Amino acid sequence: MTEKSIPAYQVFAIRYATVARKRVENFLAYDPHEGPMPMDYFVWLIQGPDRTFVVDTGFNEVAAMARKREFLQCPINALRKLGIEPADVTDAILTHLHYDHAGNIKLLPNAIMHLQEKELQYATGRYMQYDLIRHAYAVDDVVDVVRGVYDKRVMFYNGDAQLAPGVELVLVGGHTQGLQAVRVHTERGWVVLASDASHYYDNIHDESPFPIVFHVGDMLDGYHKLLGLADTKDHLVPGHDPQVFARYPIWGARENGIVALHMDPIKPLSAGIPM
Ligand SMILES: [Zn+2]
Repeated sequence: MTEKSIPAYQVFAIRYATVARKRVENFLAYDPHEGPMPMDYFVWLIQGPDRTFVVDTGFNEVAAMARKREFLQCPINALRKLGIEPADVTDAILTHLHYDHAGNIKLLPNAIMHLQEKELQYATGRYMQYDLIRHAYAVDDVVDVVRGVYDKRVMFYNGDAQLAPGVELVLVGGHTQGLQAVRVHTERGWVVLASDASHYYDNIHDESPFPIVFHVGDMLDGYHKLLGLADTKDHLVPGHDPQVFARYPIWGARENGIVALHMDPIKPLSAGIPM
């Protein structure tokens, strides 16, 4: 299939929560720069001529209160702002099963979940005995996915896979054992939704991992793999960086918290990181 005949999808980032953090908390290696570096929480929507994919499902208000995150909107309700009725969603890609990516499964009752097999093995296996690793998972969310398996609603993958022409899963690991990124064909070329393969622009571009990590080597390899799959650095979208919201065109009303990733950034990386 030639590049021209691959469908061009619209891709949206929906910002649904935020939390104040310090820069020193966001890098495994000591970073001498002081100062605030907040974290945003997103889900993504991939909308094509024939198929629509929700990427990750976020958390709810109860989880936000328990973990002291500022909850801006229900990420599943927010799909309606893009004309998507949650009950009509047929495909949900789960990049991994951390609480901020795989809650709210019950709000998408008709969706097939696309997941790396390794991720469910990790989330239900021996390493969950350890507080350090378990902390970012919520058992009820994982159980919802297990129920999905019994209901024949989970599609498992072992490695890279094409879901549709122009929508590809990319196994990375690193952050968790089965983390997958998503590569999408758009009118501006191939965009890579890194999810937590890189929380911030600086993680990937400085080769400086975020501290929540299962395998550092896989995480570093993942940076190279994903940059190689994105058309340019400006086609790589980190999973939690507030700069994503500053960098891409707002879609609809500003308070909707939605930016369009299939459109050229208004502040490209070559123009420097906006502060
Ligand atoms: Zn994560």
